[in-house]
Amino acid sequence: MSLSIADQNKLDAFWSYCVKNRYFNIGYPESADFDYTMLERFLRFSINNCGDWGEYCNYLLNSFEFEKEVMAWFSGIFKIPVDESWGYVTNGGTESNMFGCYLGRELFPDGTLYYSQDTHYSVAKIVKLLRIKSQLVASQPGGEIDYDDLEHHIRASGERHPIIFANIGTTVRGAVDDIAEIQRRIAALGIPREAYYLHADAALSGMILPFVDDPQPFTFADGIDSIGVSGHKMIGSPIPCGIVVAKKRNVDRISVEIDYISAHDKTISGSRNGHTPLMMWAAVRSHTDAEWRRRISHSLTMAQYAVDRFTAAGIRSLRHKNSITVVFPIPSEWVWKKHCLATSGDVAHLITTAHHLDSAQIDALIDDVIADLNQRAA
Ligand SMILES: *Cc1c(COP(=O)(O)O)cnc(C)c1O
Repeated sequence: MSLSIADQNKLDAFWSYCVKNRYFNIGYPESADFDYTMLERFLRFSINNCGDWGEYCNYLLNSFEFEKEVMAWFSGIFKIPVDESWGYVTNGGTESNMFGCYLGRELFPDGTLYYSQDTHYSVAKIVKLLRIKSQLVASQPGGEIDYDDLEHHIRASGERHPIIFANIGTTVRGAVDDIAEIQRRIAALGIPREAYYLHADAALSGMILPFVDDPQPFTFADGIDSIGVSGHKMIGSPIPCGIVVAKKRNVDRISVEIDYISAHDKTISGSRNGHTPLMMWAAVRSHTDAEWRRRISHSLTMAQYAVDRFTAAGIRSLRHKNSITVVFPIPSEWVWKKHCLATSGDVAHLITTAHHLDSAQIDALIDDVIADLNQRAA
C-alpha cells in the first residue's frame, strides 16, 4: 500500500497533532501513559477473537490464550473464583454494561431495570436495544442513587425481579452507590437474593478500588452479579476496550438459549478485536499489584491536591472517597473550551489520570478557573 504525497503529508500532520496533544486530557478519564510498543508488530496480522476464548476455534489467528489470562486476572481483582466466572474483552464499558444487562434480562425477562439519574448516558441505548422495562431513579445531590426513591419505585410497581444497574463511580461526579444498602432495601421488600440481578458499572473505579486500602464494596464477594470496566480509562489503551466479568452459571444460561444459532458464542459482537486482549494482557503482566497501587495512589493524591487548591481559593469542589474525579462549578466557556472539559448542568470536572505526573496541568486549569471568577466578580 502506498499513499500520494498529499495524503502522506496529511498523515504526517495528524501524527504531529497527536504527539502535541497526547497528554491534553484533564477533563476525561483516559490515561495516556501506556506503552504497548512491544505489540506493534502484531498490527500486521488479522487477529480475530470471534466467539469464546474457552472454546476450540478454527480461526487460527486468535489471541484467546491471552484473553483467558486477562479474564483470570480480572476474576482475581473482582473476587470470584475463575472457574465460576466468565467474561471477555469488549469494545468498551458500554458493551460490558450491555452484556451485564443482557444476562439480567435473560434471567428475569419481565424484570424492570432501575438506574439513577447520574447513570452514564449509554444505559438509555442499552434498555432500548434490549427492550428492557426500565425505571429512572432519583440521585442524591452528590451523585449517589437515592435509596428511598429506589425502594419507592420497586414497591409501587410491585416488581418481584428488579435488575439493578449500580454505579461504581458515576461519570460526572465519581459517586459510588452503596451496594449493601441497595441489598438491604430490596431484602426489606421481601425479595430474596436469587430473585433479583445486580450489575455494577465500574467503568473507571473498577480499576481503582481493588488497589486502595479502604475500598467501597463492589465485587462478587459483596454480592454483585456482573461488573463492567473500561480498558481505555484507568489502564489506558490506544484502542477503546472494556472488560466484563459475570457468573458462569448465568452466562451458560444464555449460551444454551442461543446454542442452535451459533455453537458456543456468548458474546455480543461476531468478529471481535484480538489486539485489545493483547494490550490488556501486556498491561496486567507488566505491572505488579504494588505498581498499580502506587500509580493509583499518585492519581488520588493529585485529585486531593486539586481539591485543596480549590478550597484555598474559596471555590467549592467535590471529590468522593477513592475518586480521581474533582467536581467544581462550571467556569466560563473560554475556560472549559481551552481545557477541553466535560461539563454537565452547572458543574465541570477534572480527572487526575496517571499521566499527570506533576501538578502543571491541574494548576494551569485551576489558575484559569480562579482568573475567570475574578473577572466575573469585577
Ligand atoms: C465511560 C463510562 C461508561 C462507558 O464506557 P465506554 O468505555 O466509553 O463505553 C459507562 N459508565 C461509566 C460510569 C463511565 O464513566
